[in-house]
Amino acid sequence: MIDPFGRSISYLRVSVTDRCDFRCVYCMAEDMTFLPKSELLTLEELERLCGAFIRLGVRKLRLTGGEPLVRRNIMSLVNNLGQHLKTGALDELTLTTNGSQLAKHAEGLAAAGVRRINVSLDTLDADKFCGVTRWGKLDQVLDGVFAAKAAGLEVKINTVALQGINDDEFDRLVGWCGEHGFDLTFIEVMPMGEIGELRADQYVPLNEVRARLARNWTLTDTHYRTGGPARYWNVAETGKRLGFITPLTHNFCESCNRVRVTCTGTLYMCLGQSDSADLRRPLRASEADAQLDDAILEAIGRKPKGHDFIIDREHNDPAVARHMSVTGG
Ligand code: SAM
Ligand code: SF4
Repeated sequence: MIDPFGRSISYLRVSVTDRCDFRCVYCMAEDMTFLPKSELLTLEELERLCGAFIRLGVRKLRLTGGEPLVRRNIMSLVNNLGQHLKTGALDELTLTTNGSQLAKHAEGLAAAGVRRINVSLDTLDADKFCGVTRWGKLDQVLDGVFAAKAAGLEVKINTVALQGINDDEFDRLVGWCGEHGFDLTFIEVMPMGEIGELRADQYVPLNEVRARLARNWTLTDTHYRTGGPARYWNVAETGKRLGFITPLTHNFCESCNRVRVTCTGTLYMCLGQSDSADLRRPLRASEADAQLDDAILEAIGRKPKGHDFIIDREHNDPAVARHMSVTGG
């Protein structure tokens, strides 16, 4: 699948649910309304949809959400998608999780062929963690992280840089990840969805964070890429990688290889734009995949050049109305 700007689309992110057991302050409003269950694609439909993308050239698949591990029977989908790894049709099956259910599922994920996972963790302070997630328990997440490590999964920690919340912890997080053998990626907060708070109060530009970290750690530039938007540096003192995802200070759209599908079968060709394609209708219209394939290819032909995120005091409105939990980041 090649888009109008010559980019090859080989990476699909699938939000398997919009629900979550946390309500992170930058991601969701406290009183979120979730979709009625009847709107969701079934796990069988999600599997068929992923199968179509794989047939059309997707080599990497990431399950996300909402919280992917709170969807009932999610491991059956993971196991079935894992079959595509065995046939060689898929290079990688992975997921992004808040870690709360990971202790239960780590071994099953490894058995299904998952090799790497991203765990979102914004702070190592239990009180702050409870505050950022609005009620999450840090210990439960750390148990999950260490269960994943014990199951042989490579863990990458994702941390959203948040003014006044974790901006005093960046060095500690680099050290902690180094100690436990995890790569770490910092993410700039993106203006997605109404959250009932001011984005400008949350936003920390990552070029400042990197400059601050460089005073205490020896950071060397690398060409390492995971197919994602992060730019990576090696931390000489820990031997681990440090990534920065900077949608606001550095636009990375020129190398974008991905599209996102929601749990209702809506395909978003860009995280930062509203244009979408409904894949549920062609999916349900026929048991054969011809209509579905046509709808996917037509949508790829409309993938926009990039996003237009801005956060400052004059721009507090979301760049897109949907929350990150709809497309899973
Ligand atoms: N619940 C899972 C988790 O937290 O990892 C998966 C879904 S979550 C939406 C995916 C990632 O998006 C998380 O790392 C989260 O921190 C990040 N995220 C959510 N809202 C964001 C925002 N407005 N700006 C930047 N990152 C955001
Ligand atoms: Fe849930 Fe992840 Fe959003 Fe936090 S970032 S509310 S864990 S979906």
